[in-house]
Amino acid sequence: MDHIELNLTRKWRSKNFQEVVGQPLAIRILQNSLYLKQFFPVYLFSGQRGCGKTSTARIFAAAVNCARLPEFQVDPRKVALPCLQCESCVAMSKSQHPDFIEIDAASHTGVDNVRNIIDSSSFLPLLSHKKIYLIDEAHMLSKAAFNAFLKILEEPPASVIFILATTDMQKILETVKSRCFQIFFDPVEHQVIQDHLEKLCIAENIQFDEQGLSVIARQADGSVRDAINLLEQVRFATKKVSKEAVLSILGHIDESTLLQLFEKILTCNVQDLLQFCSSLEKYEISVEYIWAQLIELVYDAILIKYQVQPRQFTDLSAGHILFIEKSDLGMLTALFEMLCSQEQYLAKTTKKLRFLEMMLLVHISQESPQGTKKKNKSFVSGNEQKHQSDEQVITPENQWQQFISHTKVFDDLVLVTMFHDAKFIEFDATSNLLTVSFLKKFTIFKDRLEQEKKVWHVVLQNVFGHQVQCNFTFEHVSENIKPVAVQDRSVRIESTPPSSSLTPSRSVGNKLDISDTNRWQLANELIQHFDGIITEISGNMYE
Ligand SMILES: [Zn+2]
Repeated sequence: MDHIELNLTRKWRSKNFQEVVGQPLAIRILQNSLYLKQFFPVYLFSGQRGCGKTSTARIFAAAVNCARLPEFQVDPRKVALPCLQCESCVAMSKSQHPDFIEIDAASHTGVDNVRNIIDSSSFLPLLSHKKIYLIDEAHMLSKAAFNAFLKILEEPPASVIFILATTDMQKILETVKSRCFQIFFDPVEHQVIQDHLEKLCIAENIQFDEQGLSVIARQADGSVRDAINLLEQVRFATKKVSKEAVLSILGHIDESTLLQLFEKILTCNVQDLLQFCSSLEKYEISVEYIWAQLIELVYDAILIKYQVQPRQFTDLSAGHILFIEKSDLGMLTALFEMLCSQEQYLAKTTKKLRFLEMMLLVHISQESPQGTKKKNKSFVSGNEQKHQSDEQVITPENQWQQFISHTKVFDDLVLVTMFHDAKFIEFDATSNLLTVSFLKKFTIFKDRLEQEKKVWHVVLQNVFGHQVQCNFTFEHVSENIKPVAVQDRSVRIESTPPSSSLTPSRSVGNKLDISDTNRWQLANELIQHFDGIITEISGNMYE
């Protein structure tokens, strides 16, 4: 096996100004500062994580104290700073420079730490002519610490330079900001990151293809460090950094799979859509990614409808373009609105794929020609629908039936049956209170209903509006209950371990003998609704 160098991020950390990736303006300002011998007492570097602030601060600190600085000031074209060879530069590269003090404010937030800095800054530098403090994540300092710091910022010792680095400019006190020389670090451009990765792969002898690096660069979202970390992760998992390898490690689906999903939504094909979603279960996919990419794709599709060049999906086939051109603009905008407005709920649920599936189904049911909602209308919640006079009259009973039809795809058969057999009592539109009575015998599943709330509540909200409150009772007794159409499923009902004397005799295979209807009354009733076999009974079922 080839020798693999560990930790590419550390190895490829930039050591001089030329190596800093994608920050030409910041570098030019700092080099001018060195050339003109004009140093500000306090610098404030701001920008997103991983875009080069800390590395640049270290390089600048090394350059300020580099023995060859005077030569640079005579002719900057002849000397690259820092030289990496003088005594000061060598000490810097070993992280042993006595005049360079780096503090991580995230772990040193208190006022005492700042007092230590203030006290030590009054001593003259030992090795070089400037003592330099780098305070990383400066926004994490407490207010008291900032105020203590202000005193030294007002009259900084001539031999001291402070560099504050932050990812959150808003949290730096205005009074501190106004005393700093601010340098902004932009998110590094996608192409710049990709080019850097390519250079790195060639130097490190890592096999790659351009598309693979492009996916990494896009995922890194402006952070060179994140890009290199991801590259490292991929190269340990596979031999070649290909697009497929990167997508599978990220849990992403490729563009053609995304386009398939998109077409199934727009053609309102429920069966196809469900089948497609269940096929995704096999893979470790990131639903957040699919969701975000769907938004981008629908956005681009809307641009195409307006004859504008798409932003991200620039390589769509003629067939896909034609499909988009033929699709309904109202449906596209409705889908876009739904994806944007519901995205916040995706983060809150653990059943993300189920949520995606359900939202798309609800969307299709509202958008399809058979649906209750006319085409060319944008996505609106249940409550808003009621006020639209030009649409079919929607009664709370209809809404409840609509909700019931959506529950059929739940994984949990107990939930499906409970809702199916429940009686709608009323929906008070003023208080948004929905009253429903479940069959009395389902009282034993009351906790389960609560535990699985995240599964059914969001569907309920989509039908009755986001404010919907539930009042559930367990008093309903029905004479005539139709079984739910679910076949070939066995039912396992558990609570506490069964006592052996009460266990029904086991007959063939996993099926339990519950033919004694007096003794196993509830089990017999349940089996009637579930249309399956019972393999295990325990705890409360005997009561
Ligand atoms: Zn040097």
